[in-house]
Amino acid sequence: MRPLEQARADVVGAVPLLPAEATPLDRALGLVLVEPAIVPHDLPPFTNSAMDGFAVRAADVAATPAELEVLEDVPAGSVAQAVVDEGNAIKIMTGAPMPGGADAVVRVEDTESSDGTVRILVGVEVGANVRPAGGDVRAGEVALPAGRRLTPAMIGVLASIGVTEPVVRRRPRVAVMSTGDEVLPPDQELRPGAIRDSNRPILRGLLAELGAELVDLGIIGDDADALRNAVARGAAEADAIITSGGVSMGEYDLVKQVLGELGSVDFWQVAMQPGKPFAFGHVEGVPLFGLPGNPVSVTVAFEQFARPALLTMMGAEAVLRPRITAVADEDLNSDPAKTVFLRAATSRDGDGWRVRLSGGQLSNMLSAVAAGDAFVVMPRGVADVPAGSSVTVEMFRWPEDRRFDEGIA
Ligand code: AMP
Ligand code: MG
Repeated sequence: MRPLEQARADVVGAVPLLPAEATPLDRALGLVLVEPAIVPHDLPPFTNSAMDGFAVRAADVAATPAELEVLEDVPAGSVAQAVVDEGNAIKIMTGAPMPGGADAVVRVEDTESSDGTVRILVGVEVGANVRPAGGDVRAGEVALPAGRRLTPAMIGVLASIGVTEPVVRRRPRVAVMSTGDEVLPPDQELRPGAIRDSNRPILRGLLAELGAELVDLGIIGDDADALRNAVARGAAEADAIITSGGVSMGEYDLVKQVLGELGSVDFWQVAMQPGKPFAFGHVEGVPLFGLPGNPVSVTVAFEQFARPALLTMMGAEAVLRPRITAVADEDLNSDPAKTVFLRAATSRDGDGWRVRLSGGQLSNMLSAVAAGDAFVVMPRGVADVPAGSSVTVEMFRWPEDRRFDEGIA
């Protein structure tokens, strides 16, 4: 059996980078910049007021109250014509450029206005309520590094520096199929021996989270020609192919036979549970991930192999889910020959975390994944750990966990 880390390194090392292309900003969310974004000018681009108020010379308001003549009004988007000097002020709105001569802003709440003059009730230091040019980022600095998936805030940074078509790696197109004569579409009545397809819906969701485009190859029965055709369509239309089912050891299985005929697909025994049987290879240069059939195995094998590989294809540097340390609420059992992923739910406990199993641990028991948010990672060499032990937990979801009225500001 191949250790998980080794198997993952082999898979991630064998996938191609997707091509880079200039992409409109409103379609770049979740994609990865190829080059760092450099700031072409200071941000903010000019020194401006952080408050609605009056631009003054701090020295003029050292003693309060102070009566100043108001020279003009500057709304945001306008530039003052006058210059502030001894004994006068300019009314200014948040975001408007600081007038010449002024070195501070007094908040409107700390003033009383009357015709053409303002009474300053509270003094200010030099620089008070002023946002200097370049105070956020300076021209020439790296605004965003390459290699990270663009978040809404990162998209906002790109917009603020005038980047409308960032160069990112293309959104991956991923072809997905379920296999098996017993597998029915979810809208069909069950007949004896049949089950409904949960793997494609799971994979669709996991791929949507990655921003991938889906090429849906449907449910393919245990029929060699249909399988060959579906794989060929995936290779022609997609950047990666994901199959589920039919890769177990020992039994005669058509999927295994057909994938095996494709030449460069290998069948692996990975020292992990669930997800031990796994196929990986290339069809016409397109990576193919042959996931096991059971839905929990599909989820774990996708998480451990396909997800980091797809993120690597997208150009991301960090490709693994975040891990935390938590205290086990119950005794946990494992198989020391394998890395075992237990289906679990976390909860906060003061400054730390607790974790409990979220349901049955057989690889067909998808309800335990649905009820949880994490996998307890039981490393190789570890058999059982007693309740109260600290364990490593890999988060696959960071759910909202407070109602609006439970919020603590
Ligand atoms: P296999 O390796 O093809 O024998 O599949 C292993 C187990 O997973 C069997 O019990 C299958 O019925 C089940 N299975 C395979 N594909 C799916 C699917 N798309 N949805 C739910 N269960 C599946
Ligand atoms: Mg099958």
